[in-house]
Amino acid sequence: MAMQVSATKETCAVSSMCVYRAPAVFDQDEDGTVEVIDPNPPAELHEAVRSAARGCPTRSIHVE
Ligand code: SF4
Repeated sequence: MAMQVSATKETCAVSSMCVYRAPAVFDQDEDGTVEVIDPNPPAELHEAVRSAARGCPTRSIHVE
């Protein structure tokens, strides 16, 4: 199953939790807001991405 990851910059609270949990998928731009660097992560990263999505304090990460 392919995974599609997106993030809503408008609601991101710059907590860096997602970057900490899945650094291969999430990064932060110059303002510190989330940036998805790999919107279609490989299977071995899916659990880390789901964990990052669950752990986002503002629910700004979306996984399909
Ligand atoms: S965990 Fe959520 S609030 Fe924190 S940087 Fe990532 S997207 Fe933004």
